[in-house]
Amino acid sequence: MVDIILRGGTIIDGTGGPRFRADVAIAGDRVAAVGPALSKLTGAREIDASGKIVAPGFIDVHTHDDRALLSAPEMAAKASQGVTTVITGNCGVSLAPLSLDRAPPPPLDLIGDTADYAYPRFADYLDALDKSPPALNAACLVGHSTLRVGVMSELARAARPDEIAAMGERLQEALDVGAIGMSTGLYYAPAFHAPPAEIEALAARLRSAGAIYTTHMRDEAEHVLDSLEESFAVGRAAGVPVVISHHKTTGVANFGRTAETLPKISATMARQEIALDAYPYIASSTVLRRERIEDALKVLITWSKAAPEQAGLELDEIARDWGVDIDTAVARLQPAGAIYWMMDEADVRRVLAFEPTMIGSDGLPHDAHPHPRLWGTFPRILGHYCREVGLFSLEQAVHKMTGLPAVCFGLAGRGRVDRPRDFRRADPAGCRYRARLRQWPWGMVRGQADGRAAGPGAAPADYAGRSEPVILQADEQRLSSD
Ligand SMILES: [Zn+2]
Repeated sequence: MVDIILRGGTIIDGTGGPRFRADVAIAGDRVAAVGPALSKLTGAREIDASGKIVAPGFIDVHTHDDRALLSAPEMAAKASQGVTTVITGNCGVSLAPLSLDRAPPPPLDLIGDTADYAYPRFADYLDALDKSPPALNAACLVGHSTLRVGVMSELARAARPDEIAAMGERLQEALDVGAIGMSTGLYYAPAFHAPPAEIEALAARLRSAGAIYTTHMRDEAEHVLDSLEESFAVGRAAGVPVVISHHKTTGVANFGRTAETLPKISATMARQEIALDAYPYIASSTVLRRERIEDALKVLITWSKAAPEQAGLELDEIARDWGVDIDTAVARLQPAGAIYWMMDEADVRRVLAFEPTMIGSDGLPHDAHPHPRLWGTFPRILGHYCREVGLFSLEQAVHKMTGLPAVCFGLAGRGRVDRPRDFRRADPAGCRYRARLRQWPWGMVRGQADGRAAGPGAAPADYAGRSEPVILQADEQRLSSD
C-alpha cells in the first residue's frame, strides 16, 4: 500500500525523452514506482490521470522569493503554475546574512524593508524557514550585494582585503549550512564598483562547497559580450559553474544581438560549465532607474513608496498628470519599481529556444503591481511558446523546467537546501539522469482545473488544450487540501 497512485497518465519525465504511458506510485513525498501498470499496488488514494500529462514539479531557477517563503508560505503565485522548487537569492540580493537598522538600498528593497533584514547569519534565515515551512522546496543562494551591504560602509568602491575576508566568512557560514552558491548583481549600484578580483576572491570559496555562481551581469546592453566574458572568467578563476541569469540583450540598439551572445555562450560551454535562464517576456522589471528609461519603449510603475497610488500606471501618464518632466516624476516616485519594455520578441524566442536555456520567472512577489512573469511564466512557456508558437516540444519545455535545472543546481533529492551533488559530472544539455529524476518530489497541481491555486495573472487559458498538464510534485497535501 502506497499513499497515492496516479493511474493511466502520460508521463513526461523531465529528461527530455519522449512521453510514455505509466502509473506512478507515491510513498510519503517520494516517487516509489513508475511502471506501465502498477496493478499489484494499491494506493490510499488513487487518482485517474488518464488523458493527462504527468510531469515532475517545476523548478523556478530564478526567483526573489526569499521573504515570500516566510510571508506567504502557501506560495500561490508559484504553486498555481506547478512550481515545486524555487531558487532564491538571485541578482546579488538575498535576505540573509544581513541585519539592518537602516533602509535597504535598492535593489535590496525589492525583497524587504529594514525589519525584514533580520538574519545576521544564514542559519538564522534557514531556521525561520524550518519554523514555518513553506509549501514549496527552496534552494538558496547568497547575494553578493547583501554581503557588501552588511560589511561595507561605503559601496561605491572596491572592497578592501579585510572586507573581502569578512564577506568571505559570511559566505562560508552560509555554504556550511547549505546555501547552494553565490549570486551577483553587478548591474546594480551596491555591486557596480566591485571589480572582477573581488568577485573571484569570494567565488573561490564556492568550489570546495560544490556550489555555483549565478550572475545578473554588469551589462546586458551595449557591452553584453564583455560582461559574458567577465562572468566566464569568474567561473574559470574559481573553478565553478556559472549561471547567466535572465539572459537578454536590452535596448533597441541591441535588438538582435542574442545572435551574437548565444554562439559565444555555446562555444564557451564546450570548455567550462555554463548555464543560463530566461523568462518568456519582452519586458523586464526591477527598481526604477533613470538611465534604464532611455532604452525602454514603455515604462510602467510597479510600486512606489512616495506615491503608492501610481502603481500600475505608465510613467509617461504619471508625468503628464503631474505636469512635470520625466526626471521630476522619477525623482518624486522614488523609491519605486518599474516594468520596462526593452527587448525584442525575436531575441526572447531565440534565447528560449536555445537548448540549454532553463526557465526562471524572475518574479517580484512584493510589488504592488507585479510584472506578470510572477504568476504567468510557466503557463506562458507551455501554452504560448510551446503549444501555440511551437518553439519546442512539450518534452523539451518540461526538460527546461525540471531535468535541466535539477542537474544544474544539483537538486538530486528533495529537501529545502539540498547540497549540490554531482554537478561536475553533469551534462547541462544531457538527458542522462532518468534514475535520479525518478527520486524527485512529485505531487499534483491541476493547473487551473480546480481553480483553487490559480490567482490573478495565472493565465489559466494558457492551459486549455488537448494536453492539459497535470503537474506532479511532493507537497500535494499542502497544495490542495482535498
Ligand atoms: Zn536580475
